[in-house]
Amino acid sequence: MTALTLHNVNKFFGAVHVLKDVNLEVEDGEFVVFVGPSGCGKSTLLRVIAGLEDVSSGDIHIGGEHVNFTPPSKRGIAMVFQSYALYPHLNVRNNMSLALKQERQTKDVIDQRIAEATRMLNLEDYLDRYPSELSGGQRQRVAIGRAIVRHPKLFLFDEPLSNLDAALRMNTRLEIANLHRQLEASMIYVTHDQSEAMTLADKIVVLRDGHVEQIGSPMELYNNPVNQFVAGFLGSPA
Ligand code: ADP
Ligand code: MG
Repeated sequence: MTALTLHNVNKFFGAVHVLKDVNLEVEDGEFVVFVGPSGCGKSTLLRVIAGLEDVSSGDIHIGGEHVNFTPPSKRGIAMVFQSYALYPHLNVRNNMSLALKQERQTKDVIDQRIAEATRMLNLEDYLDRYPSELSGGQRQRVAIGRAIVRHPKLFLFDEPLSNLDAALRMNTRLEIANLHRQLEASMIYVTHDQSEAMTLADKIVVLRDGHVEQIGSPMELYNNPVNQFVAGFLGSPA
């Protein structure tokens, strides 16, 4: 099964052509990393997949279903942002349960999903705290928990570790790799960090100025970069 298909996806902001004929397949359970310089369209591509932005042309299928006109909450995806985007006036439990309440899940389901996510993320002792009472790393784990409770088929991470210090970044990276194994979901992960890309990815998508420059496994890109640009990001020194 294919988790996600992008077919000739284009996005314009006014006259600015930000995504250019992007084609991509993500298989069920695959961990796909988007890399590329600042401003190349990584976040826009995630937002288009999530439905937070409309495409200008092209088609998006998630789990085989055409979703161009499907609202974000009905796409079976959950997104984790660099800035955490937690609700400051809600405690951890309520940050996690909000989307489930909007989906009209029963209290039993909500309690069980929160218990499961907090166990995975070691957040059991923090359910009554507010975001301002948490460290950066704990906030990011709550943001990840808020995604997990929805049982998405596809997780979207937009530079989730870039606000954390180096030690915590390494830790959280391992946690995300573990979660990927446990959850058996597909993940798309945007990063600037070459070592994150090389260690996490089944498949790396190198983006440049709104188009896909190369797609391949970490080893393929490392050993056979199509050009100097890809080599500069990931390849062996030419
Ligand atoms: P990245 O995440 O790779 O740094 P973005 O997807 O954020 O890149 O941005 C890609 C390009 O699209 C940039 O030139 C940015 O200025 C532009 N862009 C992003 N969002 C908007 C928007 N809402 N309106 C206009 N231009 C935008
Ligand atoms: Mg971005």
